[in-house]
Amino acid sequence: MNKRRGTLTDESQAEHHVLDKAAADCCIHGATLTPIRRLVFMLLQRHPQGIKAYQLLDLIRTLKPNAAPPTVYRALNFLVANGLAHKISCMNMFIAYDQTQHAQNEAGMLLVCPHCHSVKELRDDAASQALNEALSAAGYRLDRSVMEIGAVCPACTQADPPA
Ligand SMILES: [Zn+2]
Repeated sequence: MNKRRGTLTDESQAEHHVLDKAAADCCIHGATLTPIRRLVFMLLQRHPQGIKAYQLLDLIRTLKPNAAPPTVYRALNFLVANGLAHKISCMNMFIAYDQTQHAQNEAGMLLVCPHCHSVKELRDDAASQALNEALSAAGYRLDRSVMEIGAVCPACTQADPPA
């Protein structure tokens, strides 16, 4: 075993596990986690705060100098379509997001701080359920299963407390 450490493609054991699970989930839906999709997904995992597409492209180009933007965008679109990633529209940024870990109809809530652009997932079953009930009472159903909520994070609140 000649395992090189620290290169871009080396998957840690934990990453390997997550990626294999993602590949299996894709398979169930008749989709394939190709090497480029797997690489992009792994890089998203390594950037829990989210990453912009061009930053991803830069990283991938250190490995595959000929990588073209459409290749990366297609991989990102695939991950989003298969519930493995979410696009934070207000910041044009992508974040790994495992929808398979969420119950169906459960709304995922991502808190996006407008000041420092940090992203954190809010897990609150009661809030999620209340939202679904309120929507269905009004005759609506949630369109997207992931919501972005603009919310000032604790660090920024402390730095600039509300008057
Ligand atoms: Zn903040």
